[in-house]
Amino acid sequence: MKYTKICTLLLLWGLFVACGSKQTEGKIVTVTIEPQRFFAEKIAGDKFTVNCIVPVGQSPETYDPTPKQMVQVGKSDAYLRIGSIGFEQVWMEKIQENNPDLTVFDLSEGMSFVEGEETCIHHHEHAHEHHHPAGGVDPHIWSSIEGAKVVAWNTLNAFIQLDKENTAYYWKNYTTLLAEIEQTADQIKQILEPLESRSFIIYHPALTYFAHEFGLKQLCIEMDGKEPSPAQLKELIKTAKEHGVKVVFIQQEFDQKNAELIAKETGCRLVVINPLDYQWSKELIHIAKALVDEQAD
Ligand SMILES: [Zn+2]
Repeated sequence: MKYTKICTLLLLWGLFVACGSKQTEGKIVTVTIEPQRFFAEKIAGDKFTVNCIVPVGQSPETYDPTPKQMVQVGKSDAYLRIGSIGFEQVWMEKIQENNPDLTVFDLSEGMSFVEGEETCIHHHEHAHEHHHPAGGVDPHIWSSIEGAKVVAWNTLNAFIQLDKENTAYYWKNYTTLLAEIEQTADQIKQILEPLESRSFIIYHPALTYFAHEFGLKQLCIEMDGKEPSPAQLKELIKTAKEHGVKVVFIQQEFDQKNAELIAKETGCRLVVINPLDYQWSKELIHIAKALVDEQAD
């Protein structure tokens, strides 16, 4: 009799522990883009599940979340925004309205921003007339070393605030990540050293901070977020020739037809890149190599 009672108690205790551990396993943070998931997972380790909103192949400038994703955001312990990218400008208010208790962290805090109008070098003196959106900063901070450090630091602080008990664990992971970022910086510097032509063309200005950091010039096909007119395209081709551009970068989320046309007209190499890749270090190194290596692709 007594023995069965103890067994029942043990069984109940076992169930209780199982449920308890399940709850800690269920902690979630939501981020906007894949590179953020990279940084967050490196720091969170096994303490949080990182849920990413913008799916692979979609543009974070224009993406709309599915109802299922909105539910998932509601189940999160926090939202880590990259800063001011299109999706966040349109949806963050609604997300906070729907989830008044959701903690929101801005990972761009402390970043020295580049103004929107300085993201691309001007196509030509005459093209100066067109209007750039007033105010607004370039949101593509993650595609750079400084930006990665800012994002990593703010991510660390977010996890510490959410889960103070594991502060030492997050610090250890952060230190490892920081070493990887430094190593990536060294590698890119080395790769770019012999580079002669320091200008490149890209459809959407996703490499603004990368260009600033490594002394490169970014020429953009997109004009104020829109497809260029034939006249603008003509100017761009002229500017590209003047700058001795050798590479046109293609991004899967954006139009490729104009990129192909420009490459043909200027004799540039076409290289597919993905600044939104989860593999942050690998992709930045790939971009650096593509600027230098004739065979890269
Ligand atoms: Zn963008």
